[in-house]
Amino acid sequence: MATTVETLSNFIDGERVPSSGETEPVLNPATGEELARAPRSSAEDVDRAVGAARRAFGKWSQTTPAQRSEALLGIANVLEEHGEEIARLEALNAGKPIEAVKNDELPVMVDNLRFFAGAARCLEGRAAGEYMEGYTSFTRREAVGVIGQITPWNYPLMMAIWKFAPALAAGNTVVLKPAETTPMTTLRLAELAADILPPGVLNVVSGPGQPTGEALISHPDVDMVGLTGSVETGKHIARTAADTLKRVHLELGGKAPVVVFDDVGLETALETIAGTGYYNAGQDCTAATRVLAAGGVYDAVVAGLAEQARGLVIGDTLAPETTLGPINSARQRERVEGFLERRPDRAEIVTGGSEPDRPGFFLEPTVVAGLEQDDEMIQREIFGPVITVQRFTDEQQAIEWANATRYGLASSVWTRDVGRALRVSKALRFGCVWINDHIPLVSEMPHGGFKESGYGKDLSVYSLEDYTVVKHVMANIQA
Ligand code: NAD
Repeated sequence: MATTVETLSNFIDGERVPSSGETEPVLNPATGEELARAPRSSAEDVDRAVGAARRAFGKWSQTTPAQRSEALLGIANVLEEHGEEIARLEALNAGKPIEAVKNDELPVMVDNLRFFAGAARCLEGRAAGEYMEGYTSFTRREAVGVIGQITPWNYPLMMAIWKFAPALAAGNTVVLKPAETTPMTTLRLAELAADILPPGVLNVVSGPGQPTGEALISHPDVDMVGLTGSVETGKHIARTAADTLKRVHLELGGKAPVVVFDDVGLETALETIAGTGYYNAGQDCTAATRVLAAGGVYDAVVAGLAEQARGLVIGDTLAPETTLGPINSARQRERVEGFLERRPDRAEIVTGGSEPDRPGFFLEPTVVAGLEQDDEMIQREIFGPVITVQRFTDEQQAIEWANATRYGLASSVWTRDVGRALRVSKALRFGCVWINDHIPLVSEMPHGGFKESGYGKDLSVYSLEDYTVVKHVMANIQA
């Protein structure tokens, strides 16, 4: 007998709303099996959600910071209370080892929500004053309006929270489109928040870039669009938004250089680099996947990373011992394999490179050595469990190579020499530089790119400010 899977609904105006048209399968990437069916939302569905967000904006934008703060704290609590359920859903739908979701990702998401609850109450501005005789001037920070937000599949719920929490904290209302392969946790959290947020404040419509995303980014009643996704989609959104001059907030791809000098304690460094290069099967825009090693440690770095890769446990994402999950889709695995197939003859796959003999979209953790700066695998984001290693000769060359890609999201420098660490961190053209570590993040500090990694910040007060507009009010006090 054929088993039936759940058909998911959009979440619009405070309630579940079935798709007005087609649905599409949502798979478990660890097995390839269908988990659910999700709406392939049409322009009509998007219009309905934007209408709800517009109607809700009037009242929500007039709430006090304390009221918005209270609501975000409520969502944090409800997420924590449903942690087991959400972690299981995220593990199944995104192909993440469940222990990683529970121990690494959920606490961060809860903290992000609580941070924005606090930040909502602490907006700052220039001092009010009489800058012209007889006039008092002051600034206001006001909500932008209806925000259309689009998220990727690598951290489905975390990216949704990084988008909607600052937007709501600032008094905006939101229509959010999760990636078509991973809508489950975002839809569920919106539903759980239904008793906390007024109807229409947070709407979620599921569906692919075409037609759903396209309808959202071109909707005349959306005031601002935000994306976490690829550089190509980001450019398309910026071009489309230009027609109506919507504000744009883009967190795009990355190709993080990891610059390892020959004075570091290699054992800990390699454990961290492999841990953060293979975390989430390398599907992380800040992943430590482009290693630049000094000549003195190059061989040891290649061998050590390969050893770390061989120590990872591929398996069922619900099993506690699993440390490496699958790639999110068959399409993305093919894309990653394409890079390996097209590698130059001089490049060496030191370990991995093959599909393990099991269902799902897994790929063995891979180390590739012998690459040069202009090679495709160095220049383009692979977004899979593949770490490349290059050998550099001196600090100047390391900086040049680290900077010589179109991306500028995150980077790290590994050295015990304080002066060198500070010199290199100044020279690296990336939105974040870690010194002797890679990937830790905090809610209080900004996350966002330079160059083609986009503009606008997630996390921190900078992100809250991105979702506000500044108004100058000037009063003639002698009138
Ligand atoms: P993608 O750009 O293909 O898709 C991202 C989202 O955009 C999805 O929801 C997709 O449906 C939507 N989309 C695609 N075409 C669209 C269109 N024409 N109009 C509107 N929406 C459209 O990216 P992906 O492959 O799903 O995600 C991985 C990418 O995201 C990587 O490049 C990664 O580096 C990046 N990423 C960046 C950050 C960051 O903070 N900078 C974080 C996570 C992921």
